[in-house]
Amino acid sequence: MIALLDTIIETVCSQSDQLIMSNEKKKFGARMATMQDSGTSNCRIWKNLWKLDLPGKINFFAWRAIKEMMSCNAILANRHIVPNGGCAVCQNGAENIKHLIFTCDRAKAVWRSIGICEKIRYLMEADQSGSVVLEEIINRGEQIYDLNVGFAELLLTGGWYLWWER
Ligand SMILES: [Zn+2]
Repeated sequence: MIALLDTIIETVCSQSDQLIMSNEKKKFGARMATMQDSGTSNCRIWKNLWKLDLPGKINFFAWRAIKEMMSCNAILANRHIVPNGGCAVCQNGAENIKHLIFTCDRAKAVWRSIGICEKIRYLMEADQSGSVVLEEIINRGEQIYDLNVGFAELLLTGGWYLWWER
């Protein structure tokens, strides 16, 4: 778990990745914002998302999660692409974005090891979809002072990791 935390912090703080990705990210972000979100009144979330200090791949992960464009089992089962929408990791619920990032046993273990389990539990008290919770976290722009990173950056990097290891 300590190694995992190191990986997460390293990814969030990686300056070289930032330098390489930043130009591409800006181009990609602008393109996506234009393609997908012109005409919608709520572009605040996209502006805040592209402002985060994250590698492009994690921004893209967050964008897909908020748009609910991820190939989670629950989404695929709704479209009759897979027979079973359950989580293959914990077998304890439907594998949707909320489960993957917040309520899966695996996710809870990661958040517990980083020390933000209570924050996640508090966020889960309101019965909202995973994408709505992600939007709130990104728009709030909170800092985790103990770790010297943004809460959104930490959570999205952990979320990306949880997704990547599946
Ligand atoms: Zn699970």
